[in-house]
Amino acid sequence: MTDHVPFREAHVDVVVIGAGQAGLSSAYHLRRLGLTPGHDLVVVDGGGGPGGAWRERARSLTMEKVHGIFDLPGARRPMRTADVHRPVADVVADYYAEYERRFGLQVIRPVQVRAVRTGADRRLVVDSDAGSWAARAVVNATGTWTRPHWPYYPGVGEFSGRQLHSADYRGPEEFAGLRVAVVGGGHSATHILSEIADVAASTTWVTRRPPDFQPVEFTEDYGRQVVSMVDQRVRAGLPPKSVVSITGLGRTPVVEAALAKGALERSPMFSRITRDGVVWDDGSAATLDVIVWATGFRAALDHLAPLQLREPGGGIRMDGTRVVAEPRVHLVGYGPSASTVGANRAGRAAALEIMDLLNTAAPRPMPTTATTATVPQPQPSSDPERARARRAGGRRRLAVV
Ligand SMILES: Cc1cc2nc3c(=O)[nH]c(=O)nc-3n(C[C@H](O)[C@H](O)[C@H](O)COP(=O)(O)OP(=O)(O)OC[C@H]3O[C@@H](n4cnc5c(N)ncnc54)[C@H](O)[C@@H]3O)c2cc1C
Repeated sequence: MTDHVPFREAHVDVVVIGAGQAGLSSAYHLRRLGLTPGHDLVVVDGGGGPGGAWRERARSLTMEKVHGIFDLPGARRPMRTADVHRPVADVVADYYAEYERRFGLQVIRPVQVRAVRTGADRRLVVDSDAGSWAARAVVNATGTWTRPHWPYYPGVGEFSGRQLHSADYRGPEEFAGLRVAVVGGGHSATHILSEIADVAASTTWVTRRPPDFQPVEFTEDYGRQVVSMVDQRVRAGLPPKSVVSITGLGRTPVVEAALAKGALERSPMFSRITRDGVVWDDGSAATLDVIVWATGFRAALDHLAPLQLREPGGGIRMDGTRVVAEPRVHLVGYGPSASTVGANRAGRAAALEIMDLLNTAAPRPMPTTATTATVPQPQPSSDPERARARRAGGRRRLAVV
């Protein structure tokens, strides 16, 4: 953490918004290609500490229950050797904290970005609760965790029991003796069902489509196939679909455990919520104490609204990580890169494109109040990424305001 917080718009080259897997990967590559964290590169994060969304996950989600968290670039994760009974929230938070330290990424937190807009001098102005930065490019890596999706069903306001989103699930204990419905067909639903089946009076699993169980390991190759399928959608300007709707529900150890407990007997979507529970079209009903909405998340992009990036199809048209309508903005961890493996690759791709953009763009006007300093270029090396960045530009000037 650093105290480098501006009182007015500070001029920098790049702001990375979000320090989960996507933001850290992007920052690592931007630094490797010649930017200096805390000076021409600023990384801000809304979290209370390192770990991205992982630090918020239920403590009952232990290492043995996650599909796979891939290494951040340049550092082997301790996940390979971590105690499988440790909460993933702790293991990932420790890993990211060490990563930020090791590479000097100087993440500023907690900083909530409120808006990104085009400033008077055409720079991208990033407004936050800690001040504003005027940047030449922005990497948006804000994930989905802060935008849980609550679908609407008739009667939702009438239910007298408790409703919560899977984002607020903290473990099975509070469901002891209760009648619980879990809505949603993804891995959050199966994780919750596998745990509360041991303590609840009854569980009901409700999904829109019948589950498509697949004997699939979440390997790196498989991750690549998923990435390519979602990529086709966002290139067309459509909202990205959920991973499960594309891949089916992999038979992970958690899914196998839930199946063995009989917790994955699926019911179709109910037609209405009542005071006491839910009813289906055929007149059948379930009396419930709790409804858990494991209905996924949406990309946390509200702060980009002033840039008007959305297409008529409701999505943001992308070319790789670059937003077609505003090429200075890259979305990393969005759509095809919304996984730890996808975020890693996307961070590198975004960094390379941004360095090309910075190095080929016309020299920017220097603010009259600024002092200037010279940013050293990357040392000559045989590394092809560095060579490419070097070819694209000479020495750059940095305005320090
Ligand atoms: C329930 C669930 C389970 C998953 N399981 C897996 C899995 O097992 N394996 C896997 O590879 N992937 C999994 N994923 C996908 C996951 O999204 C990615 O793996 C990856 O960890 C996400 O990284 P990220 O950096 O994009 O987002 P995050 O980890 O969410 O990081 C985003 C950061 O941005 C910050 N932020 C958000 N808005 C703002 C703002 N306005 N201003 C400032 N900061 C902001 C947040 O505080 C957060 O720290 C899962 C996702 C979900 C939702």
